[in-house]
Amino acid sequence: MRAEIIAVGSELLLGQITNTNAKFMSSQLAVIGIDVYYQTVVGDNPARLEEVIQIAEGRADLLIFSGGLGPTKDDLTKETIARHIGVELESNNQALLSIQAYFERTGRPMTENNKKQALVLKGSTVLENRFGMAPGMALAVNNRTYMLLPGPPHEMEPMFRDEALPCLQSLSGSQEVIVSTVVKFFGIGEAELEYKVRDLLEAQTNPTIAPLASKDAVTLRITAKAQSAEAAHSLIEPVLSELHKQVGEYIYGTDEDTLSSKAASLLISAGLSISAAESLTAGLFTGLLAEEPGISASLRGGMTVYDVQAKTEQLGLDPKLIETYGTVSAQCAEGLAEKIREYFQTDIGIGLTGAAGPDTHDGKPAGTVWIGLAFKDRTKTYQLRLSGSRNTNRLRAANFALYYLIRELEWAKSQN
Ligand code: ATP
Ligand code: MG
Repeated sequence: MRAEIIAVGSELLLGQITNTNAKFMSSQLAVIGIDVYYQTVVGDNPARLEEVIQIAEGRADLLIFSGGLGPTKDDLTKETIARHIGVELESNNQALLSIQAYFERTGRPMTENNKKQALVLKGSTVLENRFGMAPGMALAVNNRTYMLLPGPPHEMEPMFRDEALPCLQSLSGSQEVIVSTVVKFFGIGEAELEYKVRDLLEAQTNPTIAPLASKDAVTLRITAKAQSAEAAHSLIEPVLSELHKQVGEYIYGTDEDTLSSKAASLLISAGLSISAAESLTAGLFTGLLAEEPGISASLRGGMTVYDVQAKTEQLGLDPKLIETYGTVSAQCAEGLAEKIREYFQTDIGIGLTGAAGPDTHDGKPAGTVWIGLAFKDRTKTYQLRLSGSRNTNRLRAANFALYYLIRELEWAKSQN
């Protein structure tokens, strides 16, 4: 199947939003072996949309649209496609009921134009929208498939994964199931990782292992083809454990895991409490943890101790320690971690201090960071030498703290 992705929305053309939907769909289609030949963007204009449809029909047999399924006047995707292919729109009962239920639940009056969202192409397979009102749909006519998906990514992505992909897989007639796992790395560069696992990368055919380019993460995607999902998983399993053997210290998770989600789930499941004293990161570390739902079970609090006085008078660090070693030192990071742990009475205390840059700080070059992790029976410190801009260094420092925390928690878990 040759696919074309058509993103509809004037905001895309005006540069107000980025076409992340096309990126997401392309990467998902690649996994199931559907080739995307073109990605098109067109504004909310029926004549130009129709022009785009006509061109796409000449070069693709799967047309996937995103956007323009909403209730407002500028949402014209469905109507334009219906007219173009000569198929009527009909109200879908299930969709109408869930729209009505939504308005009842929120106590808002439902306006007439909202009924428009329940209209689908006659004869199409309806794709449920679990996170919004407008359903998606897929219709095969004249040897082509038209698939319509909502614009908001938080609605489109789950619909695509859970409903559109299985539907496309059965359309493509393939009996094989393709399963993939993304392995996530931190603290190692892409080139170094590829070098370290080069034998594995070269030797693999099923599953394949390939680096997945991404701005802020180093990842490998393991993809297996088999007759069933179970069989595919059992092909992936040994490759995963081989990766753990070779470069396990840099692996922090898989698929949707982020450093903060992984750290949070390890903390919560181990029933451990945490607090942090932050100098250069000024709350970034606790901010990242606080992004995770349920973290209030573990995160007790934090303190931004930016200047020396805050470190000594508010947190109670020994002024002599700072006089002797300076604020950018292992001793300071250790002190911060231990003092905050005592202050909040938590199982774990984190201390972050350093020279964010661009200038030297306390005689230490920009990018020098010390991280302390205090536990009941021991305190560990780590030094970083970062080379980014001021705010890249600050974020990187917070992420490294999460990474060291994950390693400690994984280690503790393996001891139990
Ligand atoms: P709604 O019911 O919210 O109106 P819709 O299906 O009509 O949904 P649009 O009105 O086209 O979709 O877009 C709604 C929002 O979804 C946009 O403001 C934008 O934030 C996001 N969005 C739309 N298209 C894309 C895209 N291609 N990539 C990323 N985000 C998008
Ligand atoms: Mg809209």
